[in-house]
Amino acid sequence: MNKLNKKKQIVKFSKLFSSTGFSPIRSGNISVRHNEKNLKGFLISPSGKRNSDLKVNDIVFVSLEGEIEKNKNPSSEWKFHLDIYKFTKVNAIVHAHSKFSVICSCLYKRIPPFHYMVGITGADEIKVAKYSLFGTEELSKNINLALKNSLSCLISNHGQIATGENLSNAYELAEEVELLCEYYYYCKLKKNPKSINKLEMKKVLNKIIGYKEK
Ligand SMILES: [Zn+2]
Repeated sequence: MNKLNKKKQIVKFSKLFSSTGFSPIRSGNISVRHNEKNLKGFLISPSGKRNSDLKVNDIVFVSLEGEIEKNKNPSSEWKFHLDIYKFTKVNAIVHAHSKFSVICSCLYKRIPPFHYMVGITGADEIKVAKYSLFGTEELSKNINLALKNSLSCLISNHGQIATGENLSNAYELAEEVELLCEYYYYCKLKKNPKSINKLEMKKVLNKIIGYKEK
């Protein structure tokens, strides 16, 4: 996909944040891996704009060295996007302040395998990255720890991150994670839900890879 189409895709999914109420007002950010000439990097939504007002020209290129495109202002949370692209092979990142992911990120230290679809993240639980000030190096470290061997995590007292091989996959995963958080929240209201054991979750993880094509 060329640069313009990647930018258009970021605008399209950012508008979806706002039209569906998935990540309200100015919250959340989206990026896609992009290499320019001999510069490796990514394209990311800007800082402080309403998601509903985003335009293709607002999208910013940031190199993996941390150089920001001139006269542009990337999301204040660009640092963790950079580190995720550095340390993993994913091609897209969706960070959302979706309602139940925020609620669970404030209440819990992890989302256990209470439902087999937790395995859609590639891991047998969803970790919650330790709290640190938004936009900082430290928060980025915490997030990358929580994302080890998983495509998704929550960020303590903040929201969620979902990654993928392309933007539509990452966005779909963010929606799945939001649903899982909603189910978990309601289960916990009643009592501690049962968990699926390690062996059974292993079977889920083996089976769930590529289930969409089947
Ligand atoms: Zn955020």
